Amino acid sequence: MAEKGRFAPSPSGRMHLGNLFSFYVAWLDARSVGGRVVLRMEDLDPNRTGEPWTGRIVEDLRWLGLDWDEGYGVGGPDGPYCQRERTALYDAAFARLQSLDVVYPCWCSRAQRLAASAPHPGEERDLGHCPCRDLSRAERQARAMVKAPAWKVALPREIVRFRDLIQGEQAFDLARDCGDFVIRRADGVYGYQLAVTVDDALMGVTRVVRGRDLLDSAGRQLWLMDQLGYPAPVYAHVPLLLAADGRRLSKRERDLDMGALREKHSPRALRSLLWGLLSMLDDAGLEQNFRTDNIMKDDIYLELSKLI
Ligand code: GLU
Repeated sequence: MAEKGRFAPSPSGRMHLGNLFSFYVAWLDARSVGGRVVLRMEDLDPNRTGEPWTGRIVEDLRWLGLDWDEGYGVGGPDGPYCQRERTALYDAAFARLQSLDVVYPCWCSRAQRLAASAPHPGEERDLGHCPCRDLSRAERQARAMVKAPAWKVALPREIVRFRDLIQGEQAFDLARDCGDFVIRRADGVYGYQLAVTVDDALMGVTRVVRGRDLLDSAGRQLWLMDQLGYPAPVYAHVPLLLAADGRRLSKRERDLDMGALREKHSPRALRSLLWGLLSMLDDAGLEQNFRTDNIMKDDIYLELSKLI
């Protein structure tokens, strides 16, 4: 099967150096194996994502010369390429999970907050046993009359294992490390985990290269893929860029967003800066010789003041 990588930005702000670094590695990885790249907008949450960020992301990627072969802005056979327009596909996967009896309705109020946003460390996690899992059929029916539920997956006590191209052998105890998670909010918006799983599979993505903060999401997504009968992609979780004090770069760090970076650097200079960061991890020499499994897994500490 032809190899395919992807960029999967959430258009909730301008890209920053950390996003860009992951996309750069994803792009090098796909190209290094002669693969295609797809751009998908992860705009599930209507309150937090959309324009002007969608347009900005496209423009910033093009400016830097990170090109894609299909997806948002160029079209292709596996569209639409905005998650917001893919609800019917998520509905079908959700119905399949219901028929397998691996989901249950949940009325916990935290659920809505947890579901649709990308799960980064520091954000609220829903570990532990959810009491809604034990409700009887009659109790569920009674509650459903009063309030629409969110839906969670009922994870088994099972270990998911895989070999990450950068982070090495992984083993996630689903019940302990992941915990039942929301795949559909009470307002009907699907959660990140379900949408990404469906999209990666239906878009034919064979290589998922993204930030290390999403490593444990791979455990959840592999389990969902298995339930839904999808083939598993290869994963590579890229080291994070951190400020010297250990802080993660985030969209809130305006100073390292693409606006500020573009004021200071040409596309060529920014690209060699990214390559320089990578060379701290990998001794590759030239972009053409890049190999993902040469990358070391340690996060990179940056002197931010030197970059802008
Ligand atoms: N949309 C997610 C984010 O921007 C990334 C999802 C993924 O790569 O699986 O954090």
